[in-house]
Amino acid sequence: MKIVFATNNLNKLTEIRSIVSNNIEILSLSDINCHEELPETHDTLSENANEKARFVYDKYGFNCFADDTGLEVISLNGDPGVYSARYAGPECDAENNMNKLINKLDGHEDRSAKFRTVISLIINGSEYSFEGSCSGKIIDKKIGAKGFGYDPIFIPDNFNLTFAQMTLEQKALISHRALAVKKLLVFFNLYEK
Ligand code: IMP
Repeated sequence: MKIVFATNNLNKLTEIRSIVSNNIEILSLSDINCHEELPETHDTLSENANEKARFVYDKYGFNCFADDTGLEVISLNGDPGVYSARYAGPECDAENNMNKLINKLDGHEDRSAKFRTVISLIINGSEYSFEGSCSGKIIDKKIGAKGFGYDPIFIPDNFNLTFAQMTLEQKALISHRALAVKKLLVFFNLYEK
């Protein structure tokens, strides 16, 4: 089975390819000659994931899935949430986003947070969605060089390592995206029968 993962984030592509088995080929956007920005205009994860998948399905005609992820910090009323990528401003990078979050949490006792991923799948015109989450806490300095995004300041529950200190395989056992992908894989197994 071949399916497009509609993302321009190569880290996500690597993560997902490390999770799926060999009988499913994950195509990238460049594999289908799509070199444009995907639209992401909504204020919920599921609408954004669906918008990206729908864009690729309608314009390029491939079965595909897209994800949208947000980091929800409890004492900040769920911020940055769906705006996690642009938290420090439109031109910002992961360093700016982490710095802003560390500053915002200064003086807050409750540092609990949750990554939440929604995957939207469009297969032969029908839409499905799958969700995964991972709870943990935000620390006040960056530790680790692996991963991407907010990984250096997020320690998942029951661990003493940030996501950025974990190997791909360790992160894939517990991460929000891995849990959503595992639900997607169960669906593929049933769908093919
Ligand atoms: P999006 O799903 O690409 O829109 O991601 C939103 C924001 O969350 C971006 O800033 C990403 O870097 C960040 N993000 C998404 N997934 C992860 C993750 O697994 N670890 C850390 N940051 C993430």
